[in-house]
Amino acid sequence: MSNSNTPYPLASIENKQRPSGSDAPLFLIAGPCSVESEVQIHSIAKEVAAAGGTHLRGGVFKPRTSPYEFQGLGAEAIVYFSEAAKANGLKVVSEVMDLDQLEQIQDYVDVLQVGTRNMYNYPLLKALGKQRKPVILKRGFSATYKEFILAAEYILLGGNEQVILCERGVRSFDSHTRNLLDVTAVPALSALTHLPIIVDPSHGTGLRHCVEPMACAAMAAGANGVIIEAHTSPDQALTDSKQTISTSKLKGIFNKLISIRGVINAGENVTTRDEDHKTA
Ligand code: PEP
Ligand code: MN
Repeated sequence: MSNSNTPYPLASIENKQRPSGSDAPLFLIAGPCSVESEVQIHSIAKEVAAAGGTHLRGGVFKPRTSPYEFQGLGAEAIVYFSEAAKANGLKVVSEVMDLDQLEQIQDYVDVLQVGTRNMYNYPLLKALGKQRKPVILKRGFSATYKEFILAAEYILLGGNEQVILCERGVRSFDSHTRNLLDVTAVPALSALTHLPIIVDPSHGTGLRHCVEPMACAAMAAGANGVIIEAHTSPDQALTDSKQTISTSKLKGIFNKLISIRGVINAGENVTTRDEDHKTA
């Protein structure tokens, strides 16, 4: 480890090289905002797998702004969610908001998600550091890059090296979009940390028609993948319907993202990222 005074020695780019080119991980994650039923998650899993997805996302514990809105089906849904993913060769991504939820679902999940509202939940981050499954850490909706990386550092400090950062948009002055997707976060964070960075164009925009273009923008900026809300009947989705795309669109989007990644990787030979880091 470097002796410099970085505030986040484990997450720092000075600690480890950022994998690039074909060594860089690629996360093509899709699925519903909420797991709604066994039938729903099985049919979505099939579509995500057919589109070339790597992971199936779905919330069983939903962090809703209003306590009167659907809060998710709870831990019992994780069993058939996990079966649906496995039957289709996908890994399971699901959110936990506290230690009790972590205990309830961790055996059924491949990747644990920390949502934007819990990026500052330090007891949760510490608990996720003690277990050994990868964690998708979403950026707090008003978090600076430094706060974001320091939150990841909490997990790394527990000995869990598998943290994936997720840019999911920040609050802005314009309510036309749900959030302002900060695509700059991808190259900016890439210069600061070796951790993989994915982008959530669904929560980042809140608008179905913006999901594909912003997924492409994220990939062009050098992201390690995306997490997209998709449903077989998006208009009927119980949560986040307005930003949920049809699973029928996924294959086209994933193929585009892979092509964009190819273009970006070809460019690696021209401008090395190391040169950029020296001036960052
Ligand atoms: C989600 O992924 O379903 C979610 C609630 O995301 P965020 O925490 O980014 O709002
Ligand atoms: Mn959602």
